[in-house]
Amino acid sequence: MTRRPLLIAIDGPAGAGKSATARELAVRLGLPYLDTGAMYRAVALLARRAGLGPELDGEGRRAVVGFAERLGVGFRGDPRAQRVILDGEDVTEALRAPEVSQMASVVSAIPEVRREMVRRQRELAARSGGVVEGRDIGTVVFPDATLKVFLTAEPEMRARRRFDELARRGVAASWEDVLEEQRERDRRDSTRPDSPMRPAEGAVIVDTSRLSLPEVVEAVVALLPGPPRTP
Ligand code: C5P
Repeated sequence: MTRRPLLIAIDGPAGAGKSATARELAVRLGLPYLDTGAMYRAVALLARRAGLGPELDGEGRRAVVGFAERLGVGFRGDPRAQRVILDGEDVTEALRAPEVSQMASVVSAIPEVRREMVRRQRELAARSGGVVEGRDIGTVVFPDATLKVFLTAEPEMRARRRFDELARRGVAASWEDVLEEQRERDRRDSTRPDSPMRPAEGAVIVDTSRLSLPEVVEAVVALLPGPPRTP
């Protein structure tokens, strides 16, 4: 009998705690961790470096699709301290810049870009399973995942987390700007015609507004089928 690998899909908007939760879950369950947002961010970084902005004309769009098709992105290290390598360069920090976040939500609305990323994500995680984090994992990439979770939190709470994260990294940003950028990105991610962000059929919605990280992790572990898993 062949057993299907354990695959956990974690979707939801920015700042809901997806990354932290997915990383801890991967460590806890001994599974690979796949950050699909980093793949879209890598395409966005290449676009920014090529001088492209959010308003893409036909030529800009074609260039972005080319970046996606030739994308040389890889991951290194354990889930908690994972590094993102783009064509041999460690771009982990560069990918978190606010203008890259915005550009990621622009390039990710292009269907050809999505098609290419989804193909790679399936290749990376289908055989070994894993904890896969993104916006369309439960709806499109792995609709038959073992467990589908949609993490959410109140917008102010999410923006506060993003603001604190930027401050920790020494990035100067105003609270109003962070909230506005988040609103814009959520709007773009949930209204695009191709794979809009929304809870998948059968997904469990977890509101993390008033939960600590360990509480969120426990809540997700408790949803896994099979015998109870103790830490
Ligand atoms: O999760 P993260 O904030 O790193 O994602 C960056 C952007 O990439 C999102 O705002 C979204 O536009 C896009 N994305 C996506 N599908 C995914 C993961 C990320 O469209 N599976």
